[in-house]
Amino acid sequence: MGFLKIRGNIVKAVLFDFDGTLAKLNIDFQYMREEVLQIASSYGIGPNLLETKFVLEIINTVSDKLNLKSVQESENFRKEAMNFIENLEIMAAEDGELFENTKELLTCLKAHCLSTAVVSRNCEKAICLVFPDILNYCDAVVCRDKVANVKPHPQHLHTAINILRASPQLTLMLGDHPLDIETGRNAGTFTAGVLTGHHLEADFLKAGADLVLAEAADLIQMIK
Ligand SMILES: [Mg+2]
Repeated sequence: MGFLKIRGNIVKAVLFDFDGTLAKLNIDFQYMREEVLQIASSYGIGPNLLETKFVLEIINTVSDKLNLKSVQESENFRKEAMNFIENLEIMAAEDGELFENTKELLTCLKAHCLSTAVVSRNCEKAICLVFPDILNYCDAVVCRDKVANVKPHPQHLHTAINILRASPQLTLMLGDHPLDIETGRNAGTFTAGVLTGHHLEADFLKAGADLVLAEAADLIQMIK
């Protein structure tokens, strides 16, 4: 049995982001964001009132602002916006596919007794459409539906780490977005960026990643 070592430490668990990391990234986040801002505008909340750029946080902020005026308005907005993004995620998942060597990677990690989990801001329904037998390959799936606070909040990773009975210090968080690195650092894990999304090596190094890999399956060669 081999070991996966990061900075001289043996890692026992690996947490993976999903889209752009284990599966092809085909969600158009820019379109998603623009449409959610459009929905917010129809409730009287303009983009100038929003400081955040991530869709789930935009929805929370708008919802909080509306809640000050009307609980019903706030609930209506949240429902409309969440339905919109979920439909977009499901549509993307219907055309989605895993990277060629994702199953090989997860099988290899399992063979070397590493625990694995997927930690995603996507909905579970979309992930299961792309990877229906995910639980045969991976010990846990923690999507946004399962936690109160999603990435970059450390709670998202700590929930997965607890399910795996792992500890943050012996866990690697791997993802295709600097936000995944930020989250890992917030949660106290090792972090790795992968270049299979829309980000460059420099983006991950700037975010403080412990390592940057061309793709997630490069972990296979690191097991020694
Ligand atoms: Mg991603």
